[in-house]
Amino acid sequence: MELERTTRFLRKFMCKGYEIYVRVSEMDLVTLAQLILLILRNLNFKPRKHKLEDIAYAISAYLLGVQITKLGIPASTLYYYTKKLGVKRRKEERPTCPSCNSNKVIKNGSSRGKTKYKCKTCKRTFYQTPNHKLGRDQKERILKEYLNRMSMRGIAKVEGKPLTTVYSLIKRKGVEAYVNLLVLQEQLKGFTAKVTILDESWTYLRVRHGPKREDIWIWNALADGTPFFTTGDRDYGSFRFLLNSLPKSEVNYTDNYSVYQVLDNHIASKKYTYTVESYNSYCRAHLARLARDTRGGNRSKRMVDYSLALLNVMYPVIYSREITPLNEAYRKGVQNIRENLI
Ligand SMILES: [Zn+2]
Repeated sequence: MELERTTRFLRKFMCKGYEIYVRVSEMDLVTLAQLILLILRNLNFKPRKHKLEDIAYAISAYLLGVQITKLGIPASTLYYYTKKLGVKRRKEERPTCPSCNSNKVIKNGSSRGKTKYKCKTCKRTFYQTPNHKLGRDQKERILKEYLNRMSMRGIAKVEGKPLTTVYSLIKRKGVEAYVNLLVLQEQLKGFTAKVTILDESWTYLRVRHGPKREDIWIWNALADGTPFFTTGDRDYGSFRFLLNSLPKSEVNYTDNYSVYQVLDNHIASKKYTYTVESYNSYCRAHLARLARDTRGGNRSKRMVDYSLALLNVMYPVIYSREITPLNEAYRKGVQNIRENLI
């Protein structure tokens, strides 16, 4: 047996005036229990209700980290014997006062199964509320999970955080990405694209009340491979919004849908729209809300915008083999946004 006091892993036992030091963390339950039993016998304890062996086992489990209330023997009994053994009672962690941050806090009964605490400094009574703050790593992980087809409900379950916490993080970051993308698109108007390809894809809004669901159209454009998008109806009003954000282009490729007739330098042919369709499927593959045959869906149109912006910022793609001034400026701009986002 070692007789050092310095290490904090040492536990001190008192036995007939002798001090015994034990390195508890290195002992197994049975050996520790036998040692405690030996000491208890030496101290001539003869408990009436419980067997001395059981008490020795319970105390050794307590020393190894098990909660004292989960050992089958009343905590008051165990505390009595640990006190006689000279073992210091393990201190439970108590919250600090939310009003004055004092740590002079006592337990003050319970209500609905939750322990109430009372501050001795300012007399406030409070509950211990779990902390749902997200760490930097966890925030980044949640965003990545969201952009890899996990639903918000799924993320909340896996991360063990409330749905509202996950939702507000994604929304906040989505708004940030969306606003920054709008600023970037304004800057890109100074360039002229060689080729722009336009297309629209469909998704829907799940309306909570009422039988009807609402259609949403996502208008996409790839100008020299850089994605632009807007959401709305399938009419000219929404299309014009996309058109306003696009830089000038030498050629526009579209399908045969009539609203595209307003474009200059316009070629209507299915032959070239495959890249923008592959961008559509890229978005569907990354966002659970756009995927088909899932329970995940859209409940608000704005979240579609924010989610697409988040996807474009976190996992930027450029559908062009050729590097042009436009897509090079976009690449740098998005990288900047991403670095500030996380
Ligand atoms: Zn207080």
